[in-house]
Amino acid sequence: MCGIVGYISNKEKLKLAKFMTMIKSLDYRGYDSWGVSHLSDKINLIKEIGKIENTDLPGESNLILGHTRWATHGGVTKENAHPHLSNDKNISLVHNGIIENYQELKSKLDGFNFSGQTDSEVLTNYIQSKLTEDTLSSFAQILPDLKGTYAIGFLKRGENKIYFARKDSPLVLGIGKDEKILSSDVTSFFDRTKTVIYLEDGDYGYIEGNSVKIFNSGEEVERKKSTITWDIDKARKGEFEHFMLKEISEQVDVINQVLIQDSKNISSIVNDLKTKNIFMVACGTSYNAALAAEYEFLKQGIMPKVIRAHEFRSYSKFVDKNSIVLAISQSGETIDLIDALKSIKNSGAEIVSIVNVQGSTLDRMSDKRIYMNVGPEICVLSTKSYTASVSILMLLAGCITDTYETSKANLTEIIRQIYYLTSENSRKYTKELSQLLRYTKHLFTIGRKRDYPTAMEAALKIKEVSYIHAEGFAGGQIKHGPIAMIENGTPCIVFVSNKNNSEILSNAQELKSRGAFIIGVSDKNHDVFDFWIKVIGPDKYSPILRTIPIQILAYYLAVLKGLDPDKPRNLAKSVTVK
Ligand code: GLU
Repeated sequence: MCGIVGYISNKEKLKLAKFMTMIKSLDYRGYDSWGVSHLSDKINLIKEIGKIENTDLPGESNLILGHTRWATHGGVTKENAHPHLSNDKNISLVHNGIIENYQELKSKLDGFNFSGQTDSEVLTNYIQSKLTEDTLSSFAQILPDLKGTYAIGFLKRGENKIYFARKDSPLVLGIGKDEKILSSDVTSFFDRTKTVIYLEDGDYGYIEGNSVKIFNSGEEVERKKSTITWDIDKARKGEFEHFMLKEISEQVDVINQVLIQDSKNISSIVNDLKTKNIFMVACGTSYNAALAAEYEFLKQGIMPKVIRAHEFRSYSKFVDKNSIVLAISQSGETIDLIDALKSIKNSGAEIVSIVNVQGSTLDRMSDKRIYMNVGPEICVLSTKSYTASVSILMLLAGCITDTYETSKANLTEIIRQIYYLTSENSRKYTKELSQLLRYTKHLFTIGRKRDYPTAMEAALKIKEVSYIHAEGFAGGQIKHGPIAMIENGTPCIVFVSNKNNSEILSNAQELKSRGAFIIGVSDKNHDVFDFWIKVIGPDKYSPILRTIPIQILAYYLAVLKGLDPDKPRNLAKSVTVK
């Protein structure tokens, strides 16, 4: 998925140490390796394997290009790290995405040497082979030769410019007075400028210190400037050791933030929800959020179809002008989701996004949008954006039979519980449980009805960050197979609702009879529990409330095991490759 930053100024040189902090702020997108190139009379290149440990790079420059990699083609080696240098050493290039026809392009590069295996190195040399004196026009002619997805940034010796192009991978421009920044995400520069241009698919061009030139299909285009409203403190760890814990704690503000909505926008969406066929499309944690909300829609007498975005194409023929598609993504750049929506472009369906990043691809593809308003989520794992997504979906579902005001008021009732669940005392208690579970290899989570998605999200959090094998099941599902996995001492987390809980308690008993260690998450302690996590609050909001202690548990499990919770292995936050 990779993070790209390019910096150019016509006045001041930027310290490389500062530039490194900009690159580091994108390492949630990938941290297999990093690299920086800067221009003096030649192109200087620095690359390392692994994540950025130390930003203290000596030197300064007014033309810098950097990258933090999530490998797709070629192993994690210094040779495969970006930026790549062309054979003639005149071009330095960074790339996010996959050039699908790189083998074909490579076969046209007779006499070229390749030090690594990446598609991006092939691209760099392909550009060298085609570039003329007129860099921009020849670059424009190269782009149609590329199949796949890309955000590209490159600099060329002898030119004071950074060239760029985007197709299906995010790319934004930061517009400062005497400096311009090219980046995968505003997080890298919003302490320098809050004015941004979100590039569109097919855009290419270049930045100079005092100008920006954007083209699309051979014509120069004007793109709208937007202003970032995020608070810079949200992008800093502050007193917290990790972003994951900080963002878990910030959930206390999430409800108030998601309630900052335009009531007219909400009521027009709700009107359509009442009359149209609802599809909810998302991946990973956002998918679990949609599943959780599905139960509330069912209760309101409406049956949405919840589909994982990467499987959506098989369903797209059923989407038509009588459909409303709720697309959920924190980053708004999840390629599986973007791809799913492209497949229904001409269907006439209404696309409503629930998205955190304003100006993202998803935001721009949508007919209507509801912003999460939770500020940057830096940890690779979704925590506060999960709570935001569930809250927004619950708000919408609530408005089907209640007024907007009542639905809002219901949500605000759980703020006190979230405050308690994220408090230091609660965290300490959950930390004790993590001590008991730290050597666990397998763990199961179960719940019924709305707590089935809770169980799925809990298992996802635990496996993503602590690498403990965790699986979430519906309580009724265990005897159809999973119970075969239970041995003496196997931990099972059981989400028990306040009301109508006899069946889930029986399931807990069935597991216990096979030796399971039962961790109950509920309002009351029950005999079957070996360990109890107290969560009070209405069952309706259990996917939010009962998930929070497990986010905390997952966090402490990772910390106890000496893992970095903000950057779990093999994962990156914004999944921009298929
Ligand atoms: N395909 C490039 C590589 O493997 C970029 C990967 C990405 O953007 O995730 O280096």
